[in-house]
Amino acid sequence: MISLKGIKKIYSTGDIEVAALRGVDLQIDAGEFVAITGPSGSGKSTMMNILGCLDRPTSGEYFLDGADVARATGTQLAEIRNRKIGFVFQGFNLLPRTTALENVELPMLYAGVPAKERRERAIDALESVGLGDRIHHRPKELSGGQQQRVAIARALVTKPAIILADEPTGNLDTKSSIDVMAIFQKIHSEGNTVLIITHEPEIVQYTRRVIYFRDGAVEGDKLVENPRNAA
Ligand code: ADP
Ligand code: ADP
Repeated sequence: MISLKGIKKIYSTGDIEVAALRGVDLQIDAGEFVAITGPSGSGKSTMMNILGCLDRPTSGEYFLDGADVARATGTQLAEIRNRKIGFVFQGFNLLPRTTALENVELPMLYAGVPAKERRERAIDALESVGLGDRIHHRPKELSGGQQQRVAIARALVTKPAIILADEPTGNLDTKSSIDVMAIFQKIHSEGNTVLIITHEPEIVQYTRRVIYFRDGAVEGDKLVENPRNAA
């Protein structure tokens, strides 16, 4: 599903060069539930931007579900991103004036899905994250945890190859964080590939595999021995 070989990312500002990633090799299979973690400055955000096809590596190979990301042009990169990745962000990124249902329908509108099917699939997705009774609520009428569940439904609804979540519990209290991890565990159990970037050690324990970054390189990669059950 994801194959990275020798990924380097160098940021140049004036004469100063920062090596944010120094040669990352990584394989992630379809259906895995993975956390990328590590201290501040270790390269997590840079890795997220490359995995999410928001930025390209300076060198190295990246194949995502058959697509050659490292060699893609800007237009191709956007197309790969739209087709293959469902994003979940720390700040939810929902449209404030529209309902949960409309927020979840939106990516299907861009993908050209007919109106009736959009509605049916959005309702299914909201039911699958436990919000079947909140579909007409606007973001400000929902709790943080509920808003993040709307964002997960929106990420899922286009059936992406991977769900990529960037600090998805960063704005949530402990109980809402656990609710959100329960939803990720559920969608993983339904066969989805889920990748979470987090600096929170407790959150890592709800996933199945943890990849630990330090100084722009993978320092550890291991299965979570007794994954915590959030349900
Ligand atoms: P993390 O998300 O783990 O905190 P980052 O990927 O944000 O790590 O940063 C990795 C390194 O790259 C840090 O040294 C950071 O200062 C540097 N860096 C990140 N983004 C940029 C940028 N746009 N320009 C220059 N340096 C950057
Ligand atoms: P703690 O030491 O409390 O576990 P850390 O921030 O060091 O907190 O670790 C966060 C997560 O990453 C934990 O699940 C830990 O087991 C894992 N981890 C820490 N260091 C490594 C490493 N070198 N290789 C693999 N996993 C690691």
